[in-house]
Amino acid sequence: MSRKVLIIGETRDGVLRNVTFEAIAAAKTVSNGGEIIGLICGESGLNPLAEQMIHFGADRSIVVEHSKLETYTSEGFAQAVGRVIEQEKPEAIVMGHTAIGKDLTPKLAARFETGLISDVTELEEGGDNVVFTRPIYSGKAFEKKIITDGILFVTIRPNNISALDKDTSRTGDVTAIDVEIGDLRTVITDIIKKTADGVDLSEAKVIVAGGRGVKSKEGFDPLYELAEVLGGAVGASRGACDADYCDYSLQIGQTGKVVTPDLYIACGISGAIQHLAGMSNSKVIVGINKDPEANIFNIADYGIVGDLFEVIPQLIEEIKQV
Ligand code: FAD
Repeated sequence: MSRKVLIIGETRDGVLRNVTFEAIAAAKTVSNGGEIIGLICGESGLNPLAEQMIHFGADRSIVVEHSKLETYTSEGFAQAVGRVIEQEKPEAIVMGHTAIGKDLTPKLAARFETGLISDVTELEEGGDNVVFTRPIYSGKAFEKKIITDGILFVTIRPNNISALDKDTSRTGDVTAIDVEIGDLRTVITDIIKKTADGVDLSEAKVIVAGGRGVKSKEGFDPLYELAEVLGGAVGASRGACDADYCDYSLQIGQTGKVVTPDLYIACGISGAIQHLAGMSNSKVIVGINKDPEANIFNIADYGIVGDLFEVIPQLIEEIKQV
């Protein structure tokens, strides 16, 4: 059975987030040969982003431009996307499992009186249905789900499904849809950005994470250096955040960010279950810990038993020579 699929694109600082392209790749499986439509909502100037969605695999794109969509509000975006769903009547809607995806999709699924399969890490065709795999119990198990009735809402975990190759020769229509947006109960008046240098943690291919074993704010310096030579980002355990060695925005785990980089280097992190919940799906895990019994070694692909302050500088030297 083929399906018409709508992808809700997401931007940050005026550019499409990678997870949008990954959602288009996921939509290829969901659509089973049906039409894939990219959707992008914002204040103005969205056509180049809509075309980019086509370059990454959408058949055509829709833009909704409105002054009330300058910044994300669940109310404003739910009205805009809801209107497009009413008009286009897609059989499935796919979006990234990001802060915005987690906020917007349940609201829309409730409005259209249907279900939502969130945080999908794998999907495969299975007869008339698509079989979605998602982690449960903080990543200790996986469940497989299908939806047999109603519009299918899906969010996909960033960094799990590879985007299709960009093909700038792909063409498709870009249509603007006018949407009435009523008074919003929440209005964003100002955004105060945290200054974060370098690569975005949730989309990083390499993460160097520090725990309480890093011992101080300055102790994170070699981790930043290692992350830089690897083109990655720095993360942390809650232990390190609680000890004020770094900002909570770096926290990975059950109550922090969920990440799935290609390479995760855990430095001075014991491997508590709540930390593993946020990183155990990383493709390759390296543990650096001076305690050979540390739990991190139970899930690590490579373990280095040693003092992180001796091991990391050696790693940096070796990598610089490659
Ligand atoms: P520790 O457990 O103290 O481990 C430090 C490690 O560093 C040790 O293994 C030690 O051997 C090693 N070490 C010390 N010095 C060195 C050195 N010089 N070189 C190499 N290794 C060294 N935690 C999270 O991380 N994320 C979460 O989202 C999260 N959510 C939670 C939610 C709840 C409800 C609860 C109850 C807890 C949560 N926690 C979370 C906390 C979690 O249980 C652990 O307390 C925390 O992960 C421990 O952090 P840590 O590994 O950095 O510290």
